[in-house]
Amino acid sequence: MAAAFTVQEASRRILEGIRAVPTESIPLRDALGRVLAEDVTSPIEHPPWDNSSMDGYAVRAADVVNASAERPIALPVLETIAAGQRPTRRVEPRTASRIMTGAPIPDGADSVIRVEDTDGGIARVEIRDARDAGRNVRPRGEDLQIGALAVARGEVLGPAQIGVLASVGAATISVHRRPRVAVLSSGDELVDVDQFDAVRRGDRIVSSNSYSLIASVRELGAEVVDLGIVADDPNAYTERVQSALDCDLLITSGGVSVGAFDFTKDVLTSLGAELHLWRVRMRPGAPLGFGMLGKMPWLGLPGNPVSALVTFELFGRPLIRTLRGERSVFRRTIDVRTRDDISLAAPLTHFMRAIVDWDSNGPTARLTGPQGSGLLTSMALANALLVVPHDRMKVRAGDTLKALLLGERSIASSSLDV
Ligand code: AMP
Ligand code: MG
Repeated sequence: MAAAFTVQEASRRILEGIRAVPTESIPLRDALGRVLAEDVTSPIEHPPWDNSSMDGYAVRAADVVNASAERPIALPVLETIAAGQRPTRRVEPRTASRIMTGAPIPDGADSVIRVEDTDGGIARVEIRDARDAGRNVRPRGEDLQIGALAVARGEVLGPAQIGVLASVGAATISVHRRPRVAVLSSGDELVDVDQFDAVRRGDRIVSSNSYSLIASVRELGAEVVDLGIVADDPNAYTERVQSALDCDLLITSGGVSVGAFDFTKDVLTSLGAELHLWRVRMRPGAPLGFGMLGKMPWLGLPGNPVSALVTFELFGRPLIRTLRGERSVFRRTIDVRTRDDISLAAPLTHFMRAIVDWDSNGPTARLTGPQGSGLLTSMALANALLVVPHDRMKVRAGDTLKALLLGERSIASSSLDV
């Protein structure tokens, strides 16, 4: 049997040969969640003109510095400039132009007095406060200069990035295409949910991994090729794997351990796979396969539902994010104070299902409850994985450990705390 690797070594081995999938051009409208494949720079100055950040009056600061409620300053109004119009008049000393937010600042003006500090006049205006003297002008090119980087390659496109791309005219963008990820579950005991009668009878269990792994892949914006459930039979398994050879990644679950019916490794080897990894010194999830089947990477996750999701989190997610062309592929860990005494039986890196919360002294973590690798509800309750290093077999409540945050769940809150 091949050597067992640490989590870090395993991660390095898995990711070292992985390249981003090829690119395609798509309309900006369809860009949400995709990964930009090339730097996009701005062909314009944005904003394209000096403009007002207030509804009010464009004036010269020198004319209004002495304005107050007691001694308002009256100025003739030259024109009204709406957003989308160009000014036609220069603001000469002791004149003003009425101006709306976003409208171009007329020549001669260096300030916009907010309308609330005036009488709101149309032909003549009274300025009643000097606080906006020299303010409220947003300079041309303040956001982006010509040639400035608007969005960098490798960025995942969210609402703000898409907005920036729109501002600089990137109607069509180059992104990595969606990786095609095949998902295969194996085990004679497994059925799909539509055969729940067999589960009720006590003969079978639902292949929950099919659902949780497909959801995990989909959540990452990859395209799922659902290979379903295959029996513990090398021939059937071989056939199923062969149907996926044109995918960008094959993820299997089950059959990677040392049981009498664990065929996954044999099947992959007989198909010519190069195995790079077979075991990782972690719990849950010690049996974990990785190899290359021709050009297609294969990630063999353990069958235990928690092990499958935890190993997906540690190895599958960064792998798919690398295929997607993302620049930062790992999730963040934070230091947390544990609330539980923890006593472990094996010198392995443990990833314990935990709920991270914040108290006045910072982040804390408490375990979700029993930690068996078949207890999928522990994963459903968790918003983080508490990382107990292999050399910390005893942890006391109050000790500081790392927690790997599991996405949006870990930062969701029932109250607005700003
Ligand atoms: P294996 O990795 O095949 O030895 O399976 C380990 C444990 O995980 C066994 O209890 C299996 O019944 C269970 N298991 C395997 N595959 C799945 C699956 N797709 N969904 C739910 N449980 C599974
Ligand atoms: Mg099995």
